[in-house]
Amino acid sequence: MADIIQAVRGMNDVLPADIATWQHLEATVRQLVTAYGYEEIRVPVVEHTRLFKRAIGEYTDVVEKEMYTFEDQGGEQLTLRPEATAGIVRAVISNGMLRGARHKLWCIGPMFRHEKPQKGRYRQFHQLDVEAIGFAGPDIDAELIAMTARLWRTLGITRVKLQLNSLGTPESRRAYRELLVSYFRANESRLDADSRRRLEGNPLRILDSKNPEMRELIAGAPVLTEHLDADSRAHFDALCAMLGSMGIEYHVNPRLVRGLDYYSRTVFEWTTDALGSQDAVCAGGRYDGLIAHLGGESTPAIGFAMGIERVVELLVQANKVPAPTAPDIYVVVNGERASAEALKLAEQLRTVLPHRRIEVNLGGGNFKAQFRRADKSNARLALILGEDELARGVVAMKPLRQESGQTDCPTPELATRVEALLRELPAEQN
Ligand code: ATP
Ligand code: MG
Repeated sequence: MADIIQAVRGMNDVLPADIATWQHLEATVRQLVTAYGYEEIRVPVVEHTRLFKRAIGEYTDVVEKEMYTFEDQGGEQLTLRPEATAGIVRAVISNGMLRGARHKLWCIGPMFRHEKPQKGRYRQFHQLDVEAIGFAGPDIDAELIAMTARLWRTLGITRVKLQLNSLGTPESRRAYRELLVSYFRANESRLDADSRRRLEGNPLRILDSKNPEMRELIAGAPVLTEHLDADSRAHFDALCAMLGSMGIEYHVNPRLVRGLDYYSRTVFEWTTDALGSQDAVCAGGRYDGLIAHLGGESTPAIGFAMGIERVVELLVQANKVPAPTAPDIYVVVNGERASAEALKLAEQLRTVLPHRRIEVNLGGGNFKAQFRRADKSNARLALILGEDELARGVVAMKPLRQESGQTDCPTPELATRVEALLRELPAEQN
């Protein structure tokens, strides 16, 4: 026998048993972002490697060690997208969408990072990505965060906390950066290898280290918020005031820096205590410098990415998983002629009742076996069509989930009677 080919490590199938939760999350997200005026954009899963190198920055975990990069048959250096912002910004620039215009965009889809797979951390994972381009804030910052807070409320997720910080401008960061470098230089023996490398390239990223042995050293480092320029300070204070007035709770975390280089001013992250060490569920921030850095006209922007697998897990843990959908109707057939008629009848019903899920018993079986399948399918109503019903020009109707008898319905009235009956029958299964 041939060996069985497994999925690639860290890349998951979403099976039918779990799909209702994904669809529920996706539908909720789609409705929410649309209500806030965001438009969907779909960008390729593959981009030029240099786009990510330039957008995300060379001294990031993602670019240093997590990208799926390959050369295609034409000799192009390509990368499976590790995040969506770079591609969306590239699309906005290369499609000539800037020119002073403003865009509120969202997309959802798979991202790829070669990380160590573990619960909540995968090599293919999904993100909801939201970007507001052409807005200088702080009002859009506040609205974007309010939208994420509303998503948790709508989904019934409570175990999340909002952390907030400001990274200032690149100019104000420069002075802080020097303070930081001299602090870490003075403690160089306590730096791990990654941090030592970053000391030159991007010392702020040391603050984002996941290494627990670095925690104490990082806790003693100078704090960026104390070195903000006046405009960034005013931006941050206004954002805090707006969040306060909307009743959105937040915690200022001066060590929140985010993993990507292109952020400026506002950064935020929603974390949870419900998922163990993979505790970040949504992270974002302002990237006023990125668009110019990628060759577009200088345009302020802010966005966030949300980890879908982690939010799905939060829904599962909070028991906010929707019930699996069952058929409305199961058609039981008896005899060869009835079988052909049942298919025809089901097609007619599907035309008139396109919102109803109809399952015809396929592949035969005696009455008992067919009713067993009907029960197992959790359908609410059985329609029965045999030689006897055919001869009399009727279809028998039998509710399946409650004690009630079978009634005959003249075939021409079937759609109307079935719809009326389904409206009376309880929709929720127990
Ligand atoms: P982490 O600190 O968990 O590595 P990150 O800072 O690398 O996250 P971002 O690049 O900001 O993450 O991505 C935004 C969100 O996407 C994260 O908050 C998380 O919910 C999710 N995410 C990131 N990487 C993964 C992954 N490998 N598997 C599943 N979800 C992920
Ligand atoms: Mg990461």
